Amino acid sequence: MPPYYQTVILGAGLCGLSAAYHLEAREDADYALLERNSEIGGLVRTKISEGFSFDHAIHILYSRDPYALELICNKLLKDNIHKQMRQSYCYTNGIFTEYPYQTNNFGLPPAVIFENLIGLIEAKITQKEGMSPQNFEDWIFRNFGRGIAKHFMVPYNRRQWAWDLKDMNYDWIAGRVPVPEMGEVLRGALQPPTNKYGPNQEFYYPVRGGIEALSQSFLRFIPQDRLQLNATVVGIDGARHEVIMADGRRIRYGRLISTIPLPVLVHLLGGGIPSTVRQSAEGLKFNIVHTVNIGLEGPDLGPVETMHWVYFADKDTIFHRLSIPKNFSPHTVPDGCSSLQLEISESVHRPCNRNTLIEQCLSDLVRVGILEDCERKRVQTTEVVTLEPAYIIYDQKHRQNIGNIIQYLTQLDISSKGRFGEWEYLNMDQAILSGKRAVEEIA
Ligand SMILES: Cc1cc2nc3c(=O)[nH]c(=O)nc-3n(C[C@H](O)[C@H](O)[C@H](O)COP(=O)(O)OP(=O)(O)OC[C@H]3O[C@@H](n4cnc5c(N)ncnc54)[C@H](O)[C@@H]3O)c2cc1C
Repeated sequence: MPPYYQTVILGAGLCGLSAAYHLEAREDADYALLERNSEIGGLVRTKISEGFSFDHAIHILYSRDPYALELICNKLLKDNIHKQMRQSYCYTNGIFTEYPYQTNNFGLPPAVIFENLIGLIEAKITQKEGMSPQNFEDWIFRNFGRGIAKHFMVPYNRRQWAWDLKDMNYDWIAGRVPVPEMGEVLRGALQPPTNKYGPNQEFYYPVRGGIEALSQSFLRFIPQDRLQLNATVVGIDGARHEVIMADGRRIRYGRLISTIPLPVLVHLLGGGIPSTVRQSAEGLKFNIVHTVNIGLEGPDLGPVETMHWVYFADKDTIFHRLSIPKNFSPHTVPDGCSSLQLEISESVHRPCNRNTLIEQCLSDLVRVGILEDCERKRVQTTEVVTLEPAYIIYDQKHRQNIGNIIQYLTQLDISSKGRFGEWEYLNMDQAILSGKRAVEEIA
């Protein structure tokens, strides 16, 4: 008879780790946590390469949820955490302006500022009461006007999502993209930045260990024998309540908490699932993010020296975002060194050649004046890390597809949670809360 657990958790990313943490708090905890990789953390991992530490795409911590903040700061990371004020910028027209672009036009060419302001005024005047935007691109035009849309919002978002913005909805956007008042935009066009906007204007980052320190911190609360690494689930027998492992083992469960990507979960359930559910799973869209990591000898990083990260909207660069790890924590680089991380999104609509990314990024860093050509000899280490899936795409059928799948899984006692389990744009705090919710739902 295969071993039985009241709860089996699939995936030891933040959501699965959080589910285990919250189950541990219960007296009757009886669960197994299965992770396919040889290490925990999922997306929230950090690679060490020749003394440089690189997150799998840089991750910052912030939350509006008091429980999540308390857990992360005071229970998990405790004294290994540093609060800082965001220094982030947008690069357009060869100029760095402070993020968010829409409230910090000061310093841009006058013709661009004029187009941005007149576009916003027109958008405000022509706004029709009670008419919802048709899609994400329409949402941008209505909220920011044609100038800001043209010079930043549309090109940047096309690059980050690697998707047609007309084929996306905007129900994920609440609070993520600051929509300022007209007065704030005018002030930001006439004078240097005075205010910061948006939920991550202050954020936290571990002092040591990169962002993976957060994942690792859960292990203090989860007994070793609950966690099985290199444990890839290759099938699920929903009727028998059994998971089937790559090595042929079977494990029985009372309730399954799955944090693996929803389309994979549906596939693992095999042939007997309704065709509407299968079609819905096949309809889920996502993109891929490649992060190019570059370790450099010497501390100098030219114009981006003091910045945390920069958004690149123009076609000058293949990457849409650049981060400077040493400004998150000096322990991410060896003494006297520096590093850069560059993100590039790929999808069926925007293919890219992974093999040439490093060279393209180095050339583009020279083109935009962050490195000089002669500084290529400073490069100590380079690597590409690929996250697939990375961002889920909120296409027009997203909500309907998710509804069909979740309804079916609930009948099978499967709770699908986390960023890819719910197929929602969840940040780290929300993935942790999702794991907590899974446990509460069982109770
Ligand atoms: C480019 C990028 C940047 C981000 N930046 C930020 C940020 O700055 N701040 C922030 O708060 N959030 C950020 N996030 C979001 C954050 O990474 C996620 O919210 C969080 O890591 C999701 O955790 P999870 O446990 O839900 O999923 P995952 O981390 O994907 O965990 C799922 C786990 O399941 C395992 N698994 C998969 N299949 C199987 C199988 N068959 N058998 C067993 N195990 C399996 C995987 O190996 C993985 O460990 C970012 C995400 C991306 C992609």
